[in-house]
Amino acid sequence: MHAPHRTPQVSAIVPAAGSGTRFGAGRNKTLLLLEGEPLIAHVVRALGADPRVAEIVLVGKGNEREELLQAAAPACAPRVALRWTEGGAERRDSVRNGLEAADPASEILLVHDGARPFLSAVVLARVIDAAIAQGAALCTLPAIDTVKRVDAAGRVLATLDRREIHFAQTPQAFRRELGLPAYRRACAEGWPTTDDVHVLELAVEHGALPAVFAVAGDPANRKITVPADLPSARLETRPMSSAPPADRPSFRVGSGFDLHRMVPGRPCILGGVLFEHDRGPLGHSDGDALLHALTDALLGAAGLDDLGTFFPDTDPRWQGADSAALLREAWTRVREKGYALENCDLVVIAERPKLAPRRAEVRARIAALLEVEVERVNLKGKTAEKLGPIGAGEAIVAQATVLLRRN
Ligand code: MG
Repeated sequence: MHAPHRTPQVSAIVPAAGSGTRFGAGRNKTLLLLEGEPLIAHVVRALGADPRVAEIVLVGKGNEREELLQAAAPACAPRVALRWTEGGAERRDSVRNGLEAADPASEILLVHDGARPFLSAVVLARVIDAAIAQGAALCTLPAIDTVKRVDAAGRVLATLDRREIHFAQTPQAFRRELGLPAYRRACAEGWPTTDDVHVLELAVEHGALPAVFAVAGDPANRKITVPADLPSARLETRPMSSAPPADRPSFRVGSGFDLHRMVPGRPCILGGVLFEHDRGPLGHSDGDALLHALTDALLGAAGLDDLGTFFPDTDPRWQGADSAALLREAWTRVREKGYALENCDLVVIAERPKLAPRRAEVRARIAALLEVEVERVNLKGKTAEKLGPIGAGEAIVAQATVLLRRN
């Protein structure tokens, strides 16, 4: 029988003092934008994906404190504490400051580069699991190419056994009681270290730690050092404070819904087309449910509230109004904001009138009202299987989904 044990808490230390000189951006590269978000935000979001991570300690230069925290905070999960501590002269000193600042309740301390934005939850969990089970761990990639030892003059000295060669990535993690004393000693005695786990390897050599273990990393989890590190990602070498580029289209989606009661003695208008029917939609305007749903979807996608805001049904001007005119008025406002219609998909739910025989006509009418190609307008007719008020022909429902594009 295993005694139940609680999940160990993890503190993640993120050195984020990168000067970006190799990147050529002349500033901290963890603040550069990747897909519209600073690198540090990607890192903070990735670390928060593991429920055991309770806090993230950013380590950086004092003059960048506000900017880094502001960049990271929106991506930080609400249950994760985001903290700050000042870095030291070398990475080892910076990491040590972060470790010292971590919540003493965290049994696992983890270090992850501020410039590795592509960390997956799987790799993160694997490193944490290994640190819990074995004391200290990092993720690595096995060497694919043959590895040679070469001297300073370029002479090949040996071919190394590739199976023993692994490239180190972060995260690197360890149990607090093993890692913290090793770091304190490394800083005090000036051990020459190249990465975080190297400190622990030296601690192994000094007999202070049993072993450090490697677990499988991920080729995608690469460190951003030069622009060529991002062949597939869109990294923008501009500071986050500048305006978004004007040359990239943006898209906005909108949805609309409308229902009208069907009563005898009203003309049956649907999609701007008059249908032959013994009843029609009751409404302040002509009651064209399909055009109302479409108008709402277009206004919604553009962030312009809804039909009722523009054309209140308390206003006598819209008494018996032609809904096609209302649509055109709203569509003008949407286009004034710079949007064009990518496509719309429309659904009418009604027992009668039957839409199918005049579907092409309604599509063409709506495309003409919007001044777009008919291929951008799709229309589907459904019934309610004779169920409820729609099935009894007492009501008609329309739904619209639209996608707007702004270049
Ligand atoms: Mg309506």
